Amino acid sequence: MSNQPPDQHSVRRIVLPSGRKIDVIRFTDDVDEELSGLDVCPECECQLVQPTSWAQAGPSQWHLALYCPNCQWTGGGNFDQGRVERFEDTLENGVQDILRDLKQLTYANMTAEIERFVEALRSDLILPEDF
Ligand SMILES: [Zn+2]
Repeated sequence: MSNQPPDQHSVRRIVLPSGRKIDVIRFTDDVDEELSGLDVCPECECQLVQPTSWAQAGPSQWHLALYCPNCQWTGGGNFDQGRVERFEDTLENGVQDILRDLKQLTYANMTAEIERFVEALRSDLILPEDF
C-alpha cells in the first residue's frame, strides 16, 4: 500500500494499440524523469515515442534519438542500460500487439471474403464461365 494520502493521485486511461484500455494511477503529479518510460512523450504524454537512432555511449549508457509520431516531438539523450532495456521491452510488446491486431484483421477480412463468395455462389452469381 502507498503511504501517500489517497487524494494525491490521478487516474489516466490509456487505450493501447490493441484496443485494450488500462488505467494508470499516479500518486503524485511530479513525474520522476528516471522512472518514466522512454515511450512516453514529454510533450503530449502519448506512449508512442520511438527511437530513430541509437549508439552506445559508454559501458552502460546508450545515446538515443527519439521521435513522437503523435505530435512530432523530437529529443533524445544518454540513458542508462536498464532504462533502455525497459524501453526495448515496451517496443517489443508494441510489436506483439500490432502483430496480434494484424492477425485478427486478416482473419476478419478473410472471413468476410469467404462469406461474400458463399453468398455469390448461393445466388448463382458465379458461373463456370467465370473461371
Ligand atoms: Zn508527443
